[in-house]
Amino acid sequence: MKQHFASDNYAGLCPEALHYFLEANASGHEPAYGDDYWTGEVCERLRDLFQTDCQVFFVFNGTAANSLALASLCQSYHSVICHELAHIETDECGGPEFFSNGSKLLIGRSPDGKLTPDIVEALVTRRTDLHYPRPRVVSLTQSTEVGTVYTVEEVRAIAAIAKRRHLRVHMDGARFANAVAALNVHPSEITWRAGVDVLCFGGTKNGLPVGEAVVFFDEAMAEDFAWRVKQAGQLASKMRFISAPWLGLLNNDVWLKNARHANAMASLLHERIRELPGVRIMFPPQANAVFAELPAPVIRGLHNKGWKFYQFIGEGGCRLMCAWDTQPETVEAFARDLAELTGPASVASA
Ligand SMILES: *Cc1c(COP(=O)(O)O)cnc(C)c1O
Repeated sequence: MKQHFASDNYAGLCPEALHYFLEANASGHEPAYGDDYWTGEVCERLRDLFQTDCQVFFVFNGTAANSLALASLCQSYHSVICHELAHIETDECGGPEFFSNGSKLLIGRSPDGKLTPDIVEALVTRRTDLHYPRPRVVSLTQSTEVGTVYTVEEVRAIAAIAKRRHLRVHMDGARFANAVAALNVHPSEITWRAGVDVLCFGGTKNGLPVGEAVVFFDEAMAEDFAWRVKQAGQLASKMRFISAPWLGLLNNDVWLKNARHANAMASLLHERIRELPGVRIMFPPQANAVFAELPAPVIRGLHNKGWKFYQFIGEGGCRLMCAWDTQPETVEAFARDLAELTGPASVASA
């Protein structure tokens, strides 16, 4: 089977998700727009999972989940504090600003993709006059865009500053499962128990065909969200096909099994390549990604051998992303090709 390290969304559906996709199809006619059995069941199961009475909505993708969640927390004159590498800043084509009618993103910088209480505090206090958009939300990505993970204490500390400064806390959890698996904590511990108000819980990268859950831990913030989703063109009429596959992830903790596997494959990849000559690991690989700086001829060599991966961070930074189905053999084959390209023979012939 041909596999790549470009993104965890290169992978297909996990069998458990596919099973419920087909089950939903076999259930005959069902009410549309989320009034079906499957959607109700998955919402209940997510409330069980988080051990709280949260409000759950389904949208097609992560950009919509983040943009609409943030828009529901902000007025147009507000701002959202996030890391400079945050997906909402770098990869959503201005979606959060568009859907919030102009809320500005305020960017924090750090070497590991994570905000800190100090960064948040500095951004909140930098300007308080009415000529500057008023900070209203802090957005954390868990796990981060560079494959690092906020600890429970780190989320708590940021949420504590947020509370003191009257900010709401949004979590971009496109890879939430990978973070929970890496930390080995209960999902409530890094969300509402730590002070997170809204979680965009990613399913796509964890093995679903499509669809993310927007989970509001504060019911008041979810008011009108259903209308926002509909207006944005994100309300699936046959919603059961987005919701039902979640049962495949939630039963028997398949979402964690998938995430643990992806994380383990990233660890294996890291182990295999970190000491090769010319390879510099850029971030501690705490979830399912390994970032490596490689010499340009080596990158060309890998591409020539048919490997696909992204190089969007800096010059020569390669992101190697593992998925729920990444085979150890794929990791070994990639590492072998990389070793060959960085080895003494290739240096001598270069
Ligand atoms: C993949 C991803 C998303 C969602 O992206 P879509 O392509 O819109 O589904 C959001 N945040 C992060 C950090 C991601 O990696």
